[in-house]
Amino acid sequence: MSTKGKRFLSVPVLAVFSLISFLYYSSIFVFLHDWLGLQSSPGTLNAFLFSLFASLSLFSFFSCVLIDPGHVPSSYVPDVEFSKDNAEQKKCDKCFGYKPPRTHHCRVCRRCILKMDHHCLWINNCVGYWNYKAFFVFVLYATVSSIYSTVIFISCVFQKNWDSVEGNSLKIFYVLYGTIVVGLSITLLTLFGWHVYLILHNMTTIEYHEGNRAKWLAMKSGQSYRHPFNIGAYKNITLILGPNMLKWFCPTAVSHLKEGVNFPTIRDNS
Ligand SMILES: [Zn+2]
Ligand SMILES: [Zn+2]
Repeated sequence: MSTKGKRFLSVPVLAVFSLISFLYYSSIFVFLHDWLGLQSSPGTLNAFLFSLFASLSLFSFFSCVLIDPGHVPSSYVPDVEFSKDNAEQKKCDKCFGYKPPRTHHCRVCRRCILKMDHHCLWINNCVGYWNYKAFFVFVLYATVSSIYSTVIFISCVFQKNWDSVEGNSLKIFYVLYGTIVVGLSITLLTLFGWHVYLILHNMTTIEYHEGNRAKWLAMKSGQSYRHPFNIGAYKNITLILGPNMLKWFCPTAVSHLKEGVNFPTIRDNS
C-alpha cells in the first residue's frame, strides 16, 4: 500500500468514517423514513440533498487524508533580502534544511510542513499549504450535513406518535442520537467559525498563537504588532480558496497555489 493509503489505517480516521456512515444511515433510513417516508416527493428531495452533502463531506475528508500538506523543496534556499531582516528565517534543527516563511516542523510527521496549520489526528495528516483548502471545505460540508441531520432528527421527534412506542430501547437510541448530532453540530460550527476568522486574517492556527505572543512582547516595548500576511480580507480569501468563486467549494481545486515558500506581505503593498 502507498504511504498515502496507509494514512487510512488509523483508529481516528476509521472512527470518522464510521461516524459519517452511521449518521448517514440513521438520518435517511431511520429519521427521514419515519418523518416523510422515502417514497414521497419531499422525502426523496431531502434524501437527495442530504446524500449530496454527505458525499461532499466524505470526498473532502478523503482529500484531506490523501493530499500531501507540503514538503520543503530540496532546492529551497532563502533569498538574501529576506534572511537579512527576518530573524525567524532559520534552519530546522531536526531536518537541518532551510525553513521557508510560515513553515513549521511537525513532531508527529517528523518533517517540516509548508504553512503548517496543525497536525490533525482525525485525518492522520498535517493540515498545511496543499490540503488546508480541503480541510476548510470538509469542515464546511460536515457542518452543513450535521445541522441538516439535526433538523431531520428534530422534525422526526416532533411528529412521532410516542404513545404507541413500547419499551425504552427506541427512546434511548433517540436520546443518544440527539446528543451526538447536536454536540457534533455545535463543535463543527465553532471550528468552522474559527477557520473563517483565520482565513479572513490569513493566519494559521500556529500563527494565531505566535501572534498573541508577538503582540504581548510588542506592547511591553510600547510598539504594535501586525500579522504580516494579512493583506485584506478578500485578497486573503482568494489566496486560500482561489480567485474563481465557483471553485471555492471544490476541495481539490488548488491550481492557484504556488510553491508555498513565499507569500505576499503588507510590506510588499506599502
Ligand atoms: Zn523540520
Ligand atoms: Zn504532522
